Amino acid sequence: MPAQVVPIVRQLKDLRRKVANWRRGDDTIALVPTMGALHEGHLGLVKLAKKKASRAIVSLFVNPTQFAPHEDLSRYPRDEHGDRMKLAGAGADLVWAPAVEEMYPAGFATNIVPKGAAIGLEGEFRPHHFGGVATVCCKLFSQVTPDIAVFGEKDFQQFAVIRQMVRDLNLPLKIIAMPTVRERDGLALSSRNAYLSPEERAIAPALNRALKGVAAVVAAGGSAAKARETAKREVLRAGFTSVDYIEVRDAETLGPYDGKAGRPGRVLAAAWLGKTRLIDNVAL
Ligand code: AMP
Repeated sequence: MPAQVVPIVRQLKDLRRKVANWRRGDDTIALVPTMGALHEGHLGLVKLAKKKASRAIVSLFVNPTQFAPHEDLSRYPRDEHGDRMKLAGAGADLVWAPAVEEMYPAGFATNIVPKGAAIGLEGEFRPHHFGGVATVCCKLFSQVTPDIAVFGEKDFQQFAVIRQMVRDLNLPLKIIAMPTVRERDGLALSSRNAYLSPEERAIAPALNRALKGVAAVVAAGGSAAKARETAKREVLRAGFTSVDYIEVRDAETLGPYDGKAGRPGRVLAAAWLGKTRLIDNVAL
């Protein structure tokens, strides 16, 4: 017996027909945007989506505009059939997998340029990244017309950028975040973990350990600057190749953190392990 897979649509007209049918039946719709190569973190988003809405649509689209020319677009892992089997197990109702030409037809010339939460951190090291992410998410929201969309805290700045875009542009949907799903040793699940050699995989949890160290020091009233330096040293000593940033930020604006004002804080980091760039973040 063939393994069960979730139905897939690749053309906007088919997606719209499906969504219109569901709407006529009073269904509510949740969207989970992904780039595929799905793991338990993504499946957690789908399960949450199914709790919040009667239908869950998962988009599988490796969005070229959020990768810089030197980044890993061409080697980004892809496994559409495997993804559709996993999604059947998680209760998804439909996969939306447009081709690049369907998403960006010839003559495409409109882009969202997010500022605010998009400035600094990933925005500094990947200057066009959030423009690509915001534009494709805006398009996904217009295509799917979901009541809610679910994002992972794993990409905390992305979540903040999308929440800000939805607020700023009065987009008619609610954005929901889900906590990061981790391996037992603390490593955040990521499609990019597939790039790690066994040696690198053993080193990788040091990033999360270091972030938890910063959070503990700052929560106890210690110096964020010193804690960040210590964390950076620890990560490099563990075997990471270089650190792009380890920062303490306001969890809502992603601007400077002011612990005395009782604001929520977040510790965010990106670091290279060989040729693989890992990101992670923890709450203060
Ligand atoms: P991606 O396809 O990896 O770019 O991510 C698609 C969605 O899954 C984003 O909202 C991510 O934040 C979320 N996600 C990725 N990894 C995890 C994880 N380990 N835990 C929770 N959410 C995740």
